[in-house]
Amino acid sequence: MRKLVIASDNQNKVNEIKEILKGLPLEILSKNEVGLKNLVVEEDGDTLLENSFKKAREIAKQIDWIVVADDTGLFVEDLCGEPGIYSARYAGEDGNDKKNVELLLKKLNGKESKAYFETVISLITEDKKEYTASGRCYGKIVATPRGESGFGYDPVFQPEGFDKTFGEMDLDTKNRISHRRKALENLKEILEEILGEDYENISN
Ligand code: IMP
Repeated sequence: MRKLVIASDNQNKVNEIKEILKGLPLEILSKNEVGLKNLVVEEDGDTLLENSFKKAREIAKQIDWIVVADDTGLFVEDLCGEPGIYSARYAGEDGNDKKNVELLLKKLNGKESKAYFETVISLITEDKKEYTASGRCYGKIVATPRGESGFGYDPVFQPEGFDKTFGEMDLDTKNRISHRRKALENLKEILEEILGEDYENISN
């Protein structure tokens, strides 16, 4: 069975990826599980794509298995795409989710704004071919945080077609419509192509 390494030790992410890819003939391992727990890659690229490839390439240099790495950002229309690639550290290196949300709302000055989350996933095969998957979730930033669930900007992001913020939704509903889910479905399609005959043989 071919092996796929995820360039993350975030257990929620690893579980979500394993769940979506579970029908594929792949052994899925986290960075930790392949002995690369201490590998830290500086995310200093200008785009989600650059940052995700940076993470994937570092692992692919050391291991000849399939590698995937992801990067996500929130892009707010009225802030010219901020916080974008800086979403995790918008309020500074020693910031946190609460401070990031506060800064975002302060910059929006009480206004709502259209926004989307985007996840980009880069994939490198055993023979170092590179592929990209991506997914977006469109919605808006609300003026006042609502809901306690989730993480990051969830309490202020209301996806299109819903009257609840991600922070008010149960995790299953969020995970069905999220940017990450769409990117992972796209990754699954790419992997089905890459696995080609291996996959056909298993599914018949
Ligand atoms: P990462 O690339 O998955 O680590 O995401 C970067 C940052 O984007 C996180 O630190 C969060 O601030 C934000 N983010 C990513 N995904 C979500 C989400 O589903 N909800 C809310 N915020 C998110």
